[in-house]
Amino acid sequence: MESKRCFQNRFIDYQTGSAPGRGQGEFGVPLVTDTIESILRQLPAPGTGAEGGLYSGPAGVAYMLFHVSECPLFAAQRQSYLSRARSLLEPCLRLADSEPDRQARAAFLLGGAGVYAVAALVYRALALPDFEEALSKFRELWRVCAQPTFLDCGSDELFVGRSGYLCAAMVLKHKLGMEILTPAQIKSICHAIIESGKQYSKKKRKPFPLMYSYYGTEYLGAAHGLSSILQMLLSYQEYLQPADRELAWQSVDFLVNQEQNCNWPPELGEMIERENELVHWCHGAPGIAYLFAKAYLLSKKPSYLDTCIRCGELTWQKGLLKKGPGICHGVAGSAYVFLLLYRLTGNSKYIYRAQKFAEFLFSEEFKAGSCKLETIYSLYEGLSGTVCFLVDLLQPDQAEFPLFTVFAQ
Ligand SMILES: [Zn+2]
Repeated sequence: MESKRCFQNRFIDYQTGSAPGRGQGEFGVPLVTDTIESILRQLPAPGTGAEGGLYSGPAGVAYMLFHVSECPLFAAQRQSYLSRARSLLEPCLRLADSEPDRQARAAFLLGGAGVYAVAALVYRALALPDFEEALSKFRELWRVCAQPTFLDCGSDELFVGRSGYLCAAMVLKHKLGMEILTPAQIKSICHAIIESGKQYSKKKRKPFPLMYSYYGTEYLGAAHGLSSILQMLLSYQEYLQPADRELAWQSVDFLVNQEQNCNWPPELGEMIERENELVHWCHGAPGIAYLFAKAYLLSKKPSYLDTCIRCGELTWQKGLLKKGPGICHGVAGSAYVFLLLYRLTGNSKYIYRAQKFAEFLFSEEFKAGSCKLETIYSLYEGLSGTVCFLVDLLQPDQAEFPLFTVFAQ
């Protein structure tokens, strides 16, 4: 039966010893530069449409341009991409500065924190002194994130909550090569995440130590759920008290046990309906895989890697999504799992699989059968995230899901 969520994967899988798929000629520099040109043509008129944060606004396009400019294969375009990124960020920064609600300004993917973080990256790459100002605006927001409850909808998740803020701080530290937050600041934010999870779990009588909700829903996946919150706690585990670290690891193992046939339901306690199964970065195995990758890198326990590999197998079967080319719930988001597995295992099978998914993005079947996009330039739903993926396919040893590192410390 034809699935309504994904195309059937008709590619022949990798055979041991066979060369990876078609080479750089087809998915190389010209394809990336052409796709960027078409993204830039679709942007809102200068001075308008600064909303949407990194997730769907021009700030996310600026991040994509920064990412491409970092790759040596695009040295010839570096300066023009960075200048364009700078001009895209200007109205987004004005909007973030004028946001009267400081709590909302602390949002990573949907608000000011993410815009300040990307501005710091772009300005530093251009050697502009404004870099310090953007960075200090980012740093000031730590105080918001350390409050016990700063958002009524849920203060802990990735898009607007403190896990997102910690994620951005980690990306900045890694890319700028400098400390962003003091150990005391990090500890106070981690402490707030732990306390919030403990209290929620106790209040709702959950049979495991840490749980969270977002707009009343107990999500498990990367977008608003438990997995990316735990991923941040593991990433900063040296800042946790031993007992709290133990709670974080117990919660990881609890999440491992929620697996249903290589996948996880969007919400705690749901049963996966096969015909309506979500296999997305935002909800399901392709996003939860990053938590288990982090757990494996820290603990070296093979069972976490095995779980990640199962996520990859499901994604190979069901990851040719009809919802578009993006990284949130689209084909590039699926393909990033293969690049993650390549970095974890060194197995060329995963490069082959990522190349096949790239090939599919430019097929007639995909063009004819995938949903129309609302914003073509969006980093998460549109082509900007796809461009990040195509660039990472050219440098798989450094590939990372955008702004969601598991390899950096
Ligand atoms: Zn999504």
